[in-house]
Amino acid sequence: MSSKQDYYDILGVAQDADSDTLKNAYRRLAKQLHPDVNNDESSEAQFKDLNEAYGVLSDPEKRAAYDRYGHEGLRTMGLNDFSSGFPFDDIFDQFFGESGESRRDKRRQPRRGSDLRYNLTISFEQAVNGATQEIEITRPETCSRCSGSRAEPGTSTSHCVQCAGRGEIQEVRQTFLGSMVNVTICPNCQGSGEKISSPCTKCNGIGQHNATRKLLVSIPAGVDNETQIRLSGEGGPGQLGQPNGDLYVVLTVEQHKFFQRRNDDIILELEINISEAALGTTVMIPTIDSQEELRIPSGTQPGDILRLRGLGVPNVRNGKRGDQIVITTISIPKQTTSEQERLLSELGNTFQHRARPKEHTGEKGFFEQVRQILGR
Ligand SMILES: [Zn+2]
Ligand SMILES: [Zn+2]
Repeated sequence: MSSKQDYYDILGVAQDADSDTLKNAYRRLAKQLHPDVNNDESSEAQFKDLNEAYGVLSDPEKRAAYDRYGHEGLRTMGLNDFSSGFPFDDIFDQFFGESGESRRDKRRQPRRGSDLRYNLTISFEQAVNGATQEIEITRPETCSRCSGSRAEPGTSTSHCVQCAGRGEIQEVRQTFLGSMVNVTICPNCQGSGEKISSPCTKCNGIGQHNATRKLLVSIPAGVDNETQIRLSGEGGPGQLGQPNGDLYVVLTVEQHKFFQRRNDDIILELEINISEAALGTTVMIPTIDSQEELRIPSGTQPGDILRLRGLGVPNVRNGKRGDQIVITTISIPKQTTSEQERLLSELGNTFQHRARPKEHTGEKGFFEQVRQILGR
């Protein structure tokens, strides 16, 4: 998989290219590489790669997954099944219209069911540890009465007049690629080639109806926002015996009270007082699993980082856990009791220096460091 070419490189666009730039790049390259105009064998493979690249980058969710995890991520999340579910036919039709002998053969087939999307919100803990979650969806299904034939059981059907039972209508069109046969599905019979005399009473001759189903979604440990889980065959019904589409469950992870996530690390900001910072202490801190004892060394500075190895998020691909990263902030009392005031003042008198400008040392300052860790 690692030898796979970068999708942005294939299209020759920058990583932040907008959809118009993508579309234009795709259109330009597709004209050069399209098998109808270019008989070079290598160009056919390139054309396939081009379609794949555009299929991913033109879909915001797939693009996000690719940006984040690369080809491997698409594979892990079941998004790289380019043989089905990707709307290449539609992309292609958008630009070129339906054309060519090979495409006509394909068109005659009844269509596979459409892919569906379900948005699921899960807790931070579920994202880290994985979970099995029941969801309820209402989706179109093949009619249980007529099995999708659209006719009332026991009644007869005849050939569609408009397409003479062929299910498709052909017309010759002139395009920039030359003269092409344009084939469309017959609107009168939706490609079945049959005329229904008595439509099914359950689905009114549509062949499908909505049904509400409960499904179990198995959420792997380590998922994050925008992760897609594919439930194969749980999408819309295929026409006339074709396979169903897939259901994509798209995850949103709730914010946690304490924790933030950065890749596979869990970040906890820990506020300590000036005495704890100066003298050091041992405290119990929350971890994703339970609690852990943490030793704060004496002389701890604001923004100092303490790392609890292996207490982060399991990597969604290899299960290797990240770390819990504890960033210390130091709380300075806004109000003091007279006792504290006396002690602090006494303490202040023992210091060697008073307020003074800080010299640059080349080390990262507190704010810089925290910004880098938290990515903000
Ligand atoms: Zn029916
Ligand atoms: Zn017809």
